[in-house]
Amino acid sequence: MMMRAKVIRLLAERGVTLEDIGALVYEVQQKYHPGLTVEECTRCVYQVLKKREVQNVFLTGIALDMLTERRMLPEPLQGMLERDEPLYGVDEIMALGITNIYGSIGLTNFGFLDRQKIGILHNLDQEEKTDKRCHTFLDDLLAGLAAAAAAKLAHGRGRRRRGGGRDGAPPGASANGRTAYAKPVAAGAKPASANGRAALAGSRPVPVAAADDR
Ligand code: MG
Repeated sequence: MMMRAKVIRLLAERGVTLEDIGALVYEVQQKYHPGLTVEECTRCVYQVLKKREVQNVFLTGIALDMLTERRMLPEPLQGMLERDEPLYGVDEIMALGITNIYGSIGLTNFGFLDRQKIGILHNLDQEEKTDKRCHTFLDDLLAGLAAAAAAKLAHGRGRRRRGGGRDGAPPGASANGRTAYAKPVAAGAKPASANGRAALAGSRPVPVAAADDR
């Protein structure tokens, strides 16, 4: 079985469908893209899941959640994951590993989703309280995946508006997604965050060069 299919099956076992994640993407992107559908968002999620580094993060995080439920981890890790301790932080770091693939637009959306706890993120939160389930990793990883898909969507739609691109390509056609979507594009993002990376990259060498010249 393809690794992506395994991850999708694992998500289903944890009560999450691709459409649930697509709905999160839709929630953060609909106001920027008239005519956007949950289906298009779900397709983006599916494409992001093609990436091996994303698959590995989900396999690792969900395994840790499941081992926590079975109380099979050594202390103090077991207790930290059970309580979803705010200062633990590795769950967020792993989520940002997904989000960062598509640049700074993803980062803004991750922050929003992580705070708002909407849709499936709310459901998982409730499940943790009532059913003794552990989703310490999964909730952050889903926010990270949705944020990455939102960034991919914004980049893709921006490129299509400029007349280029292959946004209509079927799932699986974007094997070189990293380079193809690497350029920051304003579409779907607040101007500050869309330009943040380019501005940062442009400003960094300047003081160094000035200092050397003196
Ligand atoms: Mg968490």
